[in-house]
Amino acid sequence: MSRLIRALIDTRALQANLSRVREVAAGRRVIAVVKANGYGHGLVTAARAFAGADMLAVARLEEAVVLREAGIGAPLLLLEGVFGPEEFAQAAALHLDLVVHEAAQLALLEAWRGPWRFALWLKVDSGMNRLGFRAEDFPAARARVAALAAPPAAVRVLTHLATADEPDDTATRAQLARFEACVGRLGLETSIGNSAGIFASPRSQGDWVRPGLALYGASPFADRRGVDLGLQPAMTLVSSVIAVRSLPHGEAVGYGATWRAVRDSRVAVIAAGYGDGLIRDCGAGASVLVGGQRAPLVGRVSMDMLAADVTGLAGIEVGTPVQLWGPQLPVEEVAGRAGTIAYELLCSLTGRVPRVLNPPPA
Ligand SMILES: *Cc1c(COP(=O)(O)O)cnc(C)c1O
Repeated sequence: MSRLIRALIDTRALQANLSRVREVAAGRRVIAVVKANGYGHGLVTAARAFAGADMLAVARLEEAVVLREAGIGAPLLLLEGVFGPEEFAQAAALHLDLVVHEAAQLALLEAWRGPWRFALWLKVDSGMNRLGFRAEDFPAARARVAALAAPPAAVRVLTHLATADEPDDTATRAQLARFEACVGRLGLETSIGNSAGIFASPRSQGDWVRPGLALYGASPFADRRGVDLGLQPAMTLVSSVIAVRSLPHGEAVGYGATWRAVRDSRVAVIAAGYGDGLIRDCGAGASVLVGGQRAPLVGRVSMDMLAADVTGLAGIEVGTPVQLWGPQLPVEEVAGRAGTIAYELLCSLTGRVPRVLNPPPA
């Protein structure tokens, strides 16, 4: 195993975060979202860690295939539903449950005569304006589901909130009101909240919640970290120093010579770059922990390397461990400096970065 960049995945933290979400969601059932390679933590790793969830969810059929091939038999929801008869047949063969958000998916269900009974989640567009039936089209969609020749295993309804992470909840309340007006009297089970919804107002998130980010220990709110929500960061992204250079005052580092030493400096070169999924412009004030000490990044992040100013730090040499994010350097902070969000940093880690499980798989 390379001693260079790797993502250490704390599977106990994943489990603890599921327990924490359960506690906050107070009795609601939990759909653990493992799409996008388990938010970068590993699809199968995440699914196994969330064996205690009531259901798993992915965005794409390919992700469901990977999980079923790994022997994961849990109820599995396809959040974007299927596109075309081929995917539909495959979803049935994989025993998936489906979000249904458009008329073409209803037509596939109407033609279905196979043995698998899908649980269907009708999606209502309550204001996100991405996927889902608009309120005026929902009754017709619901009627078509009620008339299916092959009755579904269950019919439930869901919607997705656009601004649940924002302190002003006016838009969220409008979405909830629209959803309620649409489905309130039907007596169907509902699902509303993602991570932000769950932590912002746990009581208005329906019968099933759909956490993603929180399960990985990060916060969806700009002004709070995962630890503030009682969550534990599940990924520590580490690497090592591969060279240490003494740079006389005036020398530059890296492509474009964007940083120049304003004093005689020591610079550590670290094996981590955008080829691993890091962001090329990490932002002003970005730093990493080199041997446990904060060191500011200097120059541009390149494909395989980045550099940090370690002038005055003791004990830095080739092989010194580096933390790029993790418990001592929250991914939310790193993302904030780079002008992005923890979601994007976690999902962007490339296949080149080994995921190392702790504890190791049995
Ligand atoms: C990704 C996704 C979620 C999870 O969202 P988080 O913000 O990561 O908690 C929930 N529901 C749907 C429909 C999603 O696509």
